[in-house]
Amino acid sequence: MTEDSRDDHARQLAAVAADIARQRYAPRAAAWDAERKAFPQEERRYLGSLGLLGICLPEQFGGSGAPLLDALIVIEELAKECMPAAFQVFEANTGPARVLSLIGSEELQHRFLPGVITGEISIALAISEPDAGSAATDITTRAKYADGAYTINGAKRWTSNGGEADAYLVYTRLSDEPGSKGIGALIVEADRPGVSFGARERLMGFRGIPSADVRFDDVVVPAGNLVAGPGEFKELFRAFAIERLGNSTMSLAIGQAALDRTVSYVQERIQFGKQLIEFQSVQMTLADMVLQVEAARLLIERAARTAGTGLPDPLEVSLAKCMANEMAKRVSDLAMQLHGGNGYTEDYGLERLHRDAHGWAVAGGTPAMQRIRIVSELLGRHFDQRR
Ligand SMILES: Cc1cc2nc3c(=O)[nH]c(=O)nc-3n(C[C@H](O)[C@H](O)[C@H](O)COP(=O)(O)OP(=O)(O)OC[C@H]3O[C@@H](n4cnc5c(N)ncnc54)[C@H](O)[C@@H]3O)c2cc1C
Repeated sequence: MTEDSRDDHARQLAAVAADIARQRYAPRAAAWDAERKAFPQEERRYLGSLGLLGICLPEQFGGSGAPLLDALIVIEELAKECMPAAFQVFEANTGPARVLSLIGSEELQHRFLPGVITGEISIALAISEPDAGSAATDITTRAKYADGAYTINGAKRWTSNGGEADAYLVYTRLSDEPGSKGIGALIVEADRPGVSFGARERLMGFRGIPSADVRFDDVVVPAGNLVAGPGEFKELFRAFAIERLGNSTMSLAIGQAALDRTVSYVQERIQFGKQLIEFQSVQMTLADMVLQVEAARLLIERAARTAGTGLPDPLEVSLAKCMANEMAKRVSDLAMQLHGGNGYTEDYGLERLHRDAHGWAVAGGTPAMQRIRIVSELLGRHFDQRR
């Protein structure tokens, strides 16, 4: 594809996704948020029928095998209007299913990817635990191998889509080696005996995306469910970088949506006999919003182009995530400010964007952790956080 035809393709894809977002999901997004409703399964199947759940997944299973940027374009357009709809495309194309497509066995891919692509099933990510968040290598969930099967015990926290998903990519200890060395990952189906879920979290944002603890009590899975063995933590985390770009794109969508609405509002609202935009301080604020959104967009696009159909560069990912997460919080805050009292109502949807912005900045590793990664990648040095 030439650069020009690639740009045409990107524009068309964005237009199609924006249309679906506006027509089908924008009218329902506020209610799903207010009622804390999970995204309906039939809607997930609808997204699957349009091919949006398999954009980056292999063609042999019904996907398109397209570059990451294509999925990010769709995620952005959906997320501008409806986070729960975008989440389905995010989870399928940049989340655990994508990890499976990169490092999972052929057999696991055959078992799970066709269902993810049609929207029949979803797979959620279970890394965090009550005592292991930023310090992900402190996880204590343990899987013991005997007679061709693993028996898992432990508890996961903050699992997005927890209780809704059909399977979980579970980071677990597989050996007694300390730190990351003993950690790998297994796929655990939700209907295995011993899998249970905590109460749904009442989060500040993410209200159309359920979140819950997931418990494993002597859960037995076949050896074939192994995605990464002990010693393969690095491979897992390299693939997880793709999810971080999905996350960054959610933040970008929030910033862009807040900016777009503000551009209209400051040209409509009259105070002191003038449009708000005629006040110089409003112009300065709007310019700052544009600067931040554009900077995040360029960093995300660079990282996505480097990734192509493979893995991104970790430095480019952390730069993009840090910038986009902080941008979304600031820009949605400035948008509320420029909307005055209206910005503080639910009617304008800005408070929803702002609430979600905070969630994306914690999920997938906080900006502080991204900064540590940035310096570590830049200098080619490892900074042990424990010593
Ligand atoms: C909306 C949402 C969705 C999520 N979805 C998932 C999911 O699907 N699956 C999953 O596994 N997890 C998920 N998480 C969990 C998320 O990955 C963790 O919350 C995140 O990694 C931070 O961990 P923590 O909450 O334990 O905070 P902590 O690690 O306790 O950190 C608290 C504060 O201390 C700072 N801090 C910690 N260590 C350092 C350090 N070394 N240097 C400087 N500052 C530091 C942090 O930046 C943060 O500001 C989700 C979280 C949220 C809020």
